[in-house]
Amino acid sequence: MTKIISVENKINNNDKLRGLKDFNEVFEFVKHSVNSVFEMKRAGLSLMLHKMPTRVGAYHVLGSNVIAINSILLEQVRKHSASNDEYNSYLFTVLLHEYLHSFGILDEHTVRQMSVELCEKFFGEERMVTVIAKDPLKIFPQLGSVSYDKFENKYELIKDFDKSNQTYIQ
Ligand SMILES: [Zn+2]
Repeated sequence: MTKIISVENKINNNDKLRGLKDFNEVFEFVKHSVNSVFEMKRAGLSLMLHKMPTRVGAYHVLGSNVIAINSILLEQVRKHSASNDEYNSYLFTVLLHEYLHSFGILDEHTVRQMSVELCEKFFGEERMVTVIAKDPLKIFPQLGSVSYDKFENKYELIKDFDKSNQTYIQ
């Protein structure tokens, strides 16, 4: 069962996504969207930026509270984004994917389908974020040619991630 989001709210959601300023704001918005569409929520996750092989966009360690984003790919996305909308859309879909895994949904296909469904319902079918949820290479073809092949020992922990109890009011 999913909830229906009105056209006005979809437009609002697109405007909000464009204006988000950091990891925390994007993640709060991911949580809000998942709660709005699927009525699922959880808290207490940590975010790491990690240099890792470019075939891995991000990962969640099962049973842990950690989401890690591939900072090599993210850097490429930042470099090639034509707008805040593009960058935030990429970040949104990556965090969304791992957030869904953190509920114990392991199957890749299921998580991808849920991500696309959420974007279609929350933002609209033709939106940038929905296109990226289906295939990030459509918007960022450069990601296909970046090559990095190891997991670095170091990572950067994002401070104060998922600490707020902020709720969005429609
Ligand atoms: Zn996955």
